[in-house]
Amino acid sequence: MQVLKFGGTSVGSSKNINKVISILESYSKKDRVACVVSAVGGITDKLLLAGEQAKQKDQTFKDTFTTILNIHLDIINDLNPKNSQVLLDYLDDKSTALKQLLEGIYLINELSPKTSDKLVSFGEKISSFIISETMKNRGLSVARKNTQELIITNSNYTKAEVDYQRTNANIQAYFKSTEEQITVLPGFISKSVQGEETTLGRGGSDFTAAIIAAALQVDQLDIWTDVSGMFTTNPKLVKQAYPIKTISYQEAMELSHFGAKVLYPPTVQPVLDLNIPIHIKNTNAPEDTGTIISNEETRTSNPVTGISNIGNIALLTLQGSGMVGIPGFSKRLFETLAQEKINVILITQASSEHSICLGIDAGDAERAKMAVDLIFENEIALHKIDPIIVETGLSIIALVGDNMKNHQGISGKMFSTLGKNNINIRAIAQGASEKNISAVIADKDVKKALNTLHEQFFEAKTKQLNVFITGVGNVGERLVEQIKQQRTYLKENLKINLRIIGLSNSRTMCFDEEGIDLKDWKTILANGPKASLDGFLQQVIDLNLRNSIFVDVTANEEVARLYPNYLRESIGVVACNKIACSSAMDTYALLKRLSLKYNAPFLFETNVGAGLPVIDTLNNLVASGDKITSIQAVLSGSLNFVFNHFNDTTRFYDVVKQAQAEGYTEPDPRIDLSGVDVARKILILARESGMDMNLEDIENNSFLSESGLHSDTVADFFQTLIEDEDHYQRLYAAAKAKHCRLKYVAQFHNAKASVGLQEIPEGHPFYNLEGKDNIVMFYTHRYPEQPMIIKGAGAGADVTASGLFADIIRLGNN
Ligand code: ADP
Ligand code: ASP
Ligand code: MG
Repeated sequence: MQVLKFGGTSVGSSKNINKVISILESYSKKDRVACVVSAVGGITDKLLLAGEQAKQKDQTFKDTFTTILNIHLDIINDLNPKNSQVLLDYLDDKSTALKQLLEGIYLINELSPKTSDKLVSFGEKISSFIISETMKNRGLSVARKNTQELIITNSNYTKAEVDYQRTNANIQAYFKSTEEQITVLPGFISKSVQGEETTLGRGGSDFTAAIIAAALQVDQLDIWTDVSGMFTTNPKLVKQAYPIKTISYQEAMELSHFGAKVLYPPTVQPVLDLNIPIHIKNTNAPEDTGTIISNEETRTSNPVTGISNIGNIALLTLQGSGMVGIPGFSKRLFETLAQEKINVILITQASSEHSICLGIDAGDAERAKMAVDLIFENEIALHKIDPIIVETGLSIIALVGDNMKNHQGISGKMFSTLGKNNINIRAIAQGASEKNISAVIADKDVKKALNTLHEQFFEAKTKQLNVFITGVGNVGERLVEQIKQQRTYLKENLKINLRIIGLSNSRTMCFDEEGIDLKDWKTILANGPKASLDGFLQQVIDLNLRNSIFVDVTANEEVARLYPNYLRESIGVVACNKIACSSAMDTYALLKRLSLKYNAPFLFETNVGAGLPVIDTLNNLVASGDKITSIQAVLSGSLNFVFNHFNDTTRFYDVVKQAQAEGYTEPDPRIDLSGVDVARKILILARESGMDMNLEDIENNSFLSESGLHSDTVADFFQTLIEDEDHYQRLYAAAKAKHCRLKYVAQFHNAKASVGLQEIPEGHPFYNLEGKDNIVMFYTHRYPEQPMIIKGAGAGADVTASGLFADIIRLGNN
């Protein structure tokens, strides 16, 4: 005999029922089959909804009833067996009874657990009838047996306990008395010793099949569902989850207890002692291997077998100084909950016994609070303990593995991984057997937690980076293109899975949780909703993805103002925008502090020298114990371009215009020409060298004419360049007379910094600095005479984009 169970989705449509029939047909050729079926997918929920509506005197129960009826009618019509009238008659019969029951509930305004069981039993009765009759019609040797005549329980409605003695005898006697190759049985439903209809609990069809498998002592129990086995974690929440090939009964039980819905937790019980393996298979992909749950020792190098999650949890905390050292508190607490039939899912108690913390189903929380506060009424009145505290909106996530006990540091890894992703842990429990480490976290963090833990314990090799870019103008666009081009390389060589999740320019923004399709990003962005800085921030927070990185490719002050909000959510910040690092020292220090506190890197390499590794080098010098004594640098690609092209045959105005047209200047060229941009850069280098300094502390010797310095608009400014051409020619002539070239130099020395135009003589490292190049010379304790020099293109969209890219990757390796 073989026992197969098909779940709700497996029998959820005529197409799937046909798949089930062909699987049964092929199995029945080998041996007789007992086939347990669930209700058509979603029907149990709808029956309960109709009951609830009727109880609330809500007439819409009639609509729900019609929906239920139509779902079944559609399936019968689609299957279209020759004996369809038999099916329609049966459905008519059952739906009349169902309608009467709902009307009864409506009239008396009440839905007891007993009535609820009667109500939901329609689902499995109808599905099993449809399937068995359709198979009969196709010439198969089929019988149908109502499990209510076989499985006998107590009267604990909605989750009855099985009387195995009676049940086993019934099942054995029945199968001895029949000869059909296939017997179809409704799952989930049963009857009490007194003959009342009962059920085995939601998801209980798995259990029905296990009871039958154990009674008949078969070789294997097959659970057919809509996924290819028990997965490493919930496949609906983690795309990378994969089926576990073999797993022990204990592990399967732990995983299902903590939410792996694919197996109803009590299912393991009946088959465990008899050592009957459970095989989980996919009705939609019968050729897939699936999962085998058994006692076989399975040795894999990974101590963690799976991760599960269970939602709708309430945390109860009982605390108070009166609890310390006085025995009996816990006993009274647990007795009270047991009397209320409240299942305790997780317990933690500090050794001080000052408080005890319990995780229960949120649906039971109100009842639990009333009962517990009542039992401790006296102690509460005497202020020995506080009224019980109830928190909701929580979930439990659990790491499961028989082998975890033999490995050190798993819980450390689990909690540090969660911590790094800013997931707050409300309570922790770890059994002494160490098969399970569980943590209570907020519902909103579950998806992120499962994904990040799965990556840590099952994918370890690749790290997913989720990037959000604001400002896709010139540089931003290059960055997106570079990412698009390098994605495969990063995955294969650096094991980094880089995805752009959000994009924004000043007009629109767009998001895709699965990663924006970079082939088409411009159109997607153009068609996105109106851009807003706060909206963008909120979306990044709401998506709550692990390893999130915010990239600021604007020169916008408002964007920079939001960095603390990102960092506080443990979202890394990569900035091309110099405003934050060069604003008040307090702001800079705050960002550094937040970055440390929330473990969210804050990187801004492109603030100085575009793509040149200036800040990274400086950081490495400082981190390795070196001390910066002075810095000399040409830090403005645009000013270098301007003074390399300006001479007695060109006009200053034309050269500046050209620099602007070629994209070497800031959008407002005054920021470059006034020296402010260079001052900001040397300020950042001074700060990164350990100085407490502000922009006002930097001496700025401007070379602009008076009117140029005080112009109100960009247009006015350009006008002064034309008018004051003589002023600029004089600067050039003076330098030329001394055989010098003009360079705009930034200096840091003796805790002071300055910026200004200098006449550089031949032979000086700055003399031959070409085009838009930058050069930085670091004099340090270890480089006292010959400085460390970094030189190269210091402006341009491509190099700046690659500097940003380098920061993103640096962050990925963090
Ligand atoms: P059935 O109707 O066949 O009984 P269920 O819906 O009860 O199916 O269980 C299968 C579902 O369990 C899957 O579709 C999946 O969404 C969910 N699930 C949760 N955790 C896991 C897991 N670890 N492995 C497989 N499936 C899981
Ligand atoms: N139909 C029942 C439910 O939805 C039992 C089952 O599908 O296992 O809970
Ligand atoms: Mg199920």
